[in-house]
Amino acid sequence: MTMTQGTGKDTQTGAEAGDSTVADSVTARLDSVRRAIAETESACGRGKKAITLIAVSKTHPAEAVEEALAAGQRVFGENRVQEAKGKFPALKERFPDLELHLIGPLQTNKVKDAVALFDVIQTLDRPKLAEALAEEMAKSGRRPRCLIEVNTGEEPQKAGIAPAEVEAFLADCRDRLGLPVTGLMCIPPVDEEPAMHFALLAEMARRLGLPEISMGMSGDYETAVRFGATHVRVGTAIFGARPYPAQ
Ligand SMILES: *Cc1c(COP(=O)(O)O)cnc(C)c1O
Repeated sequence: MTMTQGTGKDTQTGAEAGDSTVADSVTARLDSVRRAIAETESACGRGKKAITLIAVSKTHPAEAVEEALAAGQRVFGENRVQEAKGKFPALKERFPDLELHLIGPLQTNKVKDAVALFDVIQTLDRPKLAEALAEEMAKSGRRPRCLIEVNTGEEPQKAGIAPAEVEAFLADCRDRLGLPVTGLMCIPPVDEEPAMHFALLAEMARRLGLPEISMGMSGDYETAVRFGATHVRVGTAIFGARPYPAQ
């Protein structure tokens, strides 16, 4: 890990280069992920700040989120409604510009809480959920942006809309249900080269005129940036290994 020297605003006050507790901190890891994203952006000719980094804080305590907030991070991802409800309402009060993304499966009985808490729901993955979200948005007046989860690997056990069905599903969500769908997300199969899945998702989003493309995790976010991601979801590379497996 290389620490920034000199008077740049990235320099941590009181941080000594080579101090392992500093190098291992959320602040330092966040800094190195931001730098890797910026370098990849410029290497592939994408505009500066074309990418939104979503810090995935699932399983990590509110203190870790606070450390990231102190380092200027404002966009976070959680995969469980219940866990997010325990951590984020107080933080959102203190940081009104905090943006929270749901990146895990959403059961219809959690839709009310999800609409109340999240600013973006990335896992719109079935007609029944679309109906429930539309109903709750009408009731509550809150309209979190929605991304359609696409099962790019067409894995039978995995959530998401099959690529061939995305266009019709999008039309139904928007035209009939009036959902604010702004993008697509995918989680490529673990045992496959992610690049072709990223390329497929980006191409679909372009064709459908959807501006937000959420793809790439700790192991492959630079690849995702090269293939056109607008949002990358990074957990381990920022917060370290998870203390227990996230569902
Ligand atoms: C946990 C999770 C991530 C972050 O994974 P890391 O490998 O820890 O960066 C990204 N996306 C989704 C959908 C996740 O569940």
